[in-house]
Amino acid sequence: MQLDIDERVTEELDRAKENNRLLHVYLFYGGDDKTMLDEAKLFAAKLYCGCLNCPTCKAILEDNHLNVKHIGIEEGKTMITKEQINALEAEFSMTSLILGPRIYIIDGIDTASQAAQNSLLKFIEEPTMQDEVYGILIAYDLNNVLTTIKSRCGLIRFMPKSFRELEDALAQKYSLDDAFMLASLTNNLTLCEQLYNDINYIKVKDLLHSFLNLSNSKDAVLFYLANRDISKTILQYFLKLLINIYHETLTLTKLLSSPIYDKITALKQNNSKAFLEDRLNTLLRLETKLKYNVVEKNVLHELIISFF
Ligand SMILES: [Zn+2]
Repeated sequence: MQLDIDERVTEELDRAKENNRLLHVYLFYGGDDKTMLDEAKLFAAKLYCGCLNCPTCKAILEDNHLNVKHIGIEEGKTMITKEQINALEAEFSMTSLILGPRIYIIDGIDTASQAAQNSLLKFIEEPTMQDEVYGILIAYDLNNVLTTIKSRCGLIRFMPKSFRELEDALAQKYSLDDAFMLASLTNNLTLCEQLYNDINYIKVKDLLHSFLNLSNSKDAVLFYLANRDISKTILQYFLKLLINIYHETLTLTKLLSSPIYDKITALKQNNSKAFLEDRLNTLLRLETKLKYNVVEKNVLHELIISFF
C-alpha cells in the first residue's frame, strides 16, 4: 500500500511520541485528502508498531482494526453527521475487546454542523477519554471548525501540494484547462473537485473565456457593460485566474497545449517581460483593492481600462 505522507508532519509526530508529549487530539489541515488520511493512519499504526507490514499495521491501514475507528463523509452525503459522531461516542464509551490504544479519525470535521461539532467537543473533554485514546480530526477548511475545538487540539499544518503537482493530479480527471483553473483557485484536491460543479466556477469559466477573446477596446467596453453586476466571489476567482495566467507567462518552462496554455504561450511570445510584469502587478493591485472592499464594478472597470 502506497502511503502519501508529509515527512515534516511525520517527524513532528514521531518527536512528540519519543518525548512522551503526544496530545490526545490533533487537527490536521492544509494538505490534500489522501495525504492527511494516510498520515492519520500512519500515526495510528505507529502507536502499535509502525512496520506497516505486520497483520496489525495492515489492519490499521485497511480500516480493519478493532481499536481504530475511521469515519468520513458517507456516500451520498455532503457532511459528517451528528449520528456518526454519536455512534463514535457510543462505541468509545464501551470497553474495547482488545488491548492497546484506541484511535478515532474523523475525516472532514469541518463539514460537520455546529451541533455535531459541539457533541464532539463534549466527547473530547470527557475525563474518561483521557488515557490511551487519540483523535485525529482532518479539516479542509479550518474556518469551518469551531474555535473551541481548535483550541483543544494540536494543530498540524500540512504543506499544500505545489500548483504543478495539483494540476497534474486534476488533469487525470478533467481537461488541462479545468485542471489549470481549479488548481489556480484552491490548493486542495477535495475542494477542487467540489468546485468543479460549483455555479460560480462555471460562471467564471465563461467569463474568462470571453475575456481572453477580447481583441479591441470596443469589445472590452461591451464586456464591461455585460458583466458590471459581477459578484465579489466571481470577480475574486476571475482575478485569481488572470493572475495565474500572467504568472505563468513569466515562469512557465514546460510546453503545454490547451486553449489557456496556447494563450499563455502567445502572450509570452508577443510581449516583453516588462509588459507582462506590469500586467501582473496591475492584477495583484486590483486583487488587493477588492479585498479592501472597493466596489466590484469599479475594479472590473479599472481592469478593462488598464488592459485595453
Ligand atoms: Zn507492524
